[in-house]
Amino acid sequence: MNSLLNLKGFSVLSQQDNEGHLEITVENRLKPQACPNCGYSQLYSHDKTEQVFFDTPMQGKPVVLKMMRMRYKCRSCGKTFREPLLGIDDKRLMTSRLKEHIQKKAMRETFAVVARETGLDEKTIRHVFDDYVSEKAQSMPFVTPRILGIDELKLVGSFRCILTNIEHNTVFDMLPSRKKDSVREYLKNLPDKDNVEQITMDMWRPYKDAVNAELPGRIIVIDKFHTVRIANESLEASRKAIRASLERKDRLKLKNERFVLLKRRNSLSDEETEKLQKWSAWYPELGLAYDAKEAFFCLFDQGLDSKTAKEALIDWQSGIDPSIERHFEPLTKALNNWMPEILNGFDYPITNAYTESINRLAKDLQRMGRGYSFDVVRAKMLYNAEANKPTTSTIRKKKRKPIEEEPVFYLMQDNLSGSASQKQKYKTEIIEEKRYYGAHIPTLCDLLEKGEFD
Ligand SMILES: [Zn+2]
Repeated sequence: MNSLLNLKGFSVLSQQDNEGHLEITVENRLKPQACPNCGYSQLYSHDKTEQVFFDTPMQGKPVVLKMMRMRYKCRSCGKTFREPLLGIDDKRLMTSRLKEHIQKKAMRETFAVVARETGLDEKTIRHVFDDYVSEKAQSMPFVTPRILGIDELKLVGSFRCILTNIEHNTVFDMLPSRKKDSVREYLKNLPDKDNVEQITMDMWRPYKDAVNAELPGRIIVIDKFHTVRIANESLEASRKAIRASLERKDRLKLKNERFVLLKRRNSLSDEETEKLQKWSAWYPELGLAYDAKEAFFCLFDQGLDSKTAKEALIDWQSGIDPSIERHFEPLTKALNNWMPEILNGFDYPITNAYTESINRLAKDLQRMGRGYSFDVVRAKMLYNAEANKPTTSTIRKKKRKPIEEEPVFYLMQDNLSGSASQKQKYKTEIIEEKRYYGAHIPTLCDLLEKGEFD
């Protein structure tokens, strides 16, 4: 029967097959040798109480271990303590191996399924899972980024706030909500805030408010990608409005026009250029919208500094043809509300590699299977071993350590007998320290595409 349980330190007294679960009565064979408080070795039994611990399922059934647990009293200090149990998590009232089992399972199955399998309630499964997440967060704390990205991504049905390390191209953290209060609370508790010099964000007012409140004085940047995206959206609005105003026979003259219009001028084929010219002649507004979009994009291609860019953006804005003005309103509004941050984008450009990664991630996350909670997705992504590998670095440090030749209490006696003049000897040790920067975004994308998170 003992080999069936295979749990070190315990022997099985009896086993009962209750409806739905196995109940195993066990006895702890390890007896304490000394008081954990004072080290004194004379202990006596104080009382015994029945305790129940959950264990890993067997034969497809939940398992509980039942035992009488002894409490001891120390003859010297008078403190009482419960007998120590090997391989038991006292906080969660379960075996350590069950805890590990749940942590692994909760990454693949819903909490409800794991609860049913183990005989525990969902709340306990959540607690065990949360334990896992906080252990991970403690064992691999991510270095607070110098250039922090605050973006939004749609994940498990809602928009979430995603924080990135732009220099290291990693996901630094994910928040369930992009609301101001939740972002602000997060930034308030961010460790090593002084690391953050620059913040690149979506044009989302709550992010700016949260940053100004909790990380005042940092450079806020709207990157080029986020700005030009609105030019494309404005062009789309123009196209849709023009299409909607046409008769059916005229509408047929347009074909694949969305694809062509979104292209940059220098990547149009001869055939596409010809098409565009024809459409512009038939529907002048469409041509004007395309030209406005292209002119706007061009401003970001020339490596302008913010001062020149400001003049150019104002020129652009005043040059919009009145016939398409209303469609480009989102863009003119953005320029009015975010001009300093958009201009910072010229002085503090971020790399294309990062922009491409984050866009790819947004797409890959869309395809991810449902059924997981946000917290599980977050933990899976942030602490994925493979995604952390490319960004983790090892730092070697020299450290001077005192050499302790004798146990401490002998030294104390030496001191008492007046040998305090004895010099402390030191040795130099090389200490390796790991630095974690977060989950590498391109690796996460590869894993998502392979179905690793489904
Ligand atoms: Zn004691």
